[in-house]
Amino acid sequence: MSRGFNFSSGPAVLPEEVLKEAQAELLEWSNARASVMEVSHRGKAFIAMAEESERDLRALMSIPANYKVLFLQGGATQHFAQIPMNIGFGGSADYIVTGQWGQKAVKEAKPYTNARVAATGEADGFLKLPPRDTWQLDSNAAYVHYTPNETIGGIAIHDIPDVGNVPLVADMSSNILADTLDVSKFGIIYAGAQKNIGPSGLVVMIIRDDLLGRPTAPMANIFKYSAQAADGSMLNTPATFSWYMAGRVFKWVARHGGVAAMGERNRAKAERLYRYIDGSGFYSNPIEKSARSLMNVPFRSPNETLDEKFVKESEAAGLLALKGHRSVGGMRASIYNAMPIEGVEALISFMQDFAAKNG
Ligand SMILES: *Cc1c(COP(=O)(O)O)cnc(C)c1O
Repeated sequence: MSRGFNFSSGPAVLPEEVLKEAQAELLEWSNARASVMEVSHRGKAFIAMAEESERDLRALMSIPANYKVLFLQGGATQHFAQIPMNIGFGGSADYIVTGQWGQKAVKEAKPYTNARVAATGEADGFLKLPPRDTWQLDSNAAYVHYTPNETIGGIAIHDIPDVGNVPLVADMSSNILADTLDVSKFGIIYAGAQKNIGPSGLVVMIIRDDLLGRPTAPMANIFKYSAQAADGSMLNTPATFSWYMAGRVFKWVARHGGVAAMGERNRAKAERLYRYIDGSGFYSNPIEKSARSLMNVPFRSPNETLDEKFVKESEAAGLLALKGHRSVGGMRASIYNAMPIEGVEALISFMQDFAAKNG
């Protein structure tokens, strides 16, 4: 058996170069005479790695000096709650909902803040974005939360919404590092690592430092971003292996031209796939064209029986995890940074054969 092209939505494909590096240093890492998983997070080697990973991420994303970078745990889902606990306490917050992750974020925020749905695409089945002139933003909100890339539906907000002086909070779990980004437009950017950064167990958060001074809900230190920032994200034992892998991925992104080059590659991959789908007369993607995701491409064949056949046969052909989310059905190709163009070409070629045989 050999590695297939992995189209999983998450945990997802990692760069092969990075996996090989990890393999080469799995037994002995950084002269520690032990693996990175077996050494203290407070030891010299790990601290040096942690600091370097932060420097590398700062350089990659041009993160301004007045932002802290945190390496946390709990997954993006835990931070759906922790964000309002930290910066929305006693007030209200606006949510722009363009899919299932945004819906979850609202639900998890409700115990901690008055989470208002300021705009939602639900009436259109999340196949279109709610038009900008229908957004009911409150200029007194503690923050505005949105999900620039909805991983399940495959819909994206490609520009950064202008929300005035209210801090903009973005769940970038499935599109962080996928393109250039003006970090200074955000209050918080956060991402579960397991789509575009590394293994699960890690959340990368970029937070503007004035937000760390807000009054919070009464809560344990471990939930406080200010306490995590003060302690270098080491209030307790962090997800050491995931952090190490993230650091390796940051170097891989830099080595391959940085986020601008990732953006170019990602656009080329997505354009190729959407162009084929649209012209195929066999497959379809239902998302409003201007809002199609560059990372997650859902598509269907003419019927569910063929969808099932497609998933089965593609898996056997080494094109992995193309089954769509259970709530959407059909297929979904997740084509994150680490998916090479060759993977997309192999997918299209399989799709062509399948359509020819079953059309
Ligand atoms: C995967 C995903 C999440 C959930 O991440 P967990 O780490 O499993 O909590 C949240 N938001 C988006 C956009 C995602 O893609």
